[in-house]
Amino acid sequence: MAEAEQTKTCPLCAETIKVAAKVCPYCRRPQNRWFFVSENDVLAFLALVMLVVSVVCVIRYFGFSRQYSPARHKLTVLSTQFGVESTLEHTNVVVSGVVTNESEYKWQLMGFEARFLDSGGKTFEVGNGGYAYCVLPSHTEGSFKLTLYSLDKIPPHSGVKATVTSAKEPGLWFNND
Ligand SMILES: [Zn+2]
Repeated sequence: MAEAEQTKTCPLCAETIKVAAKVCPYCRRPQNRWFFVSENDVLAFLALVMLVVSVVCVIRYFGFSRQYSPARHKLTVLSTQFGVESTLEHTNVVVSGVVTNESEYKWQLMGFEARFLDSGGKTFEVGNGGYAYCVLPSHTEGSFKLTLYSLDKIPPHSGVKATVTSAKEPGLWFNND
């Protein structure tokens, strides 16, 4: 029997059609193999993929990632200085410095604390600001820059001391350094 003469049942309309048909002549639905994958199969597959991705994210961020606290003293700010850029509305305080990583691991620096001291040694507050994430490999130095926003005038002859308050093991998607 020639292939063109073999028949099958269309899975959608149940009419008998030729096996070689690419489109059912009755219901006009394509007869390729994807036709047999239902929407529910696709949704179930996507749900499974999302579940796996979620579990991997949770493990990397909360479960087995290295804790920063034991390495706290190994990430040292060597020097810090700041400059002031005043606009009409507010004062931008740009804090920059150098951090050294004396630990055996690569760290992604996540947060800094900058303590400002006036000429009398009293601390004063400067608002929060932005910081660009950076990754510091083992036994290297790197510079950091914080831009803070202050509504108050900075006292003359002020000083600043910065410390790294949080860092984490670089994740899968933050490995570019
Ligand atoms: Zn059909």
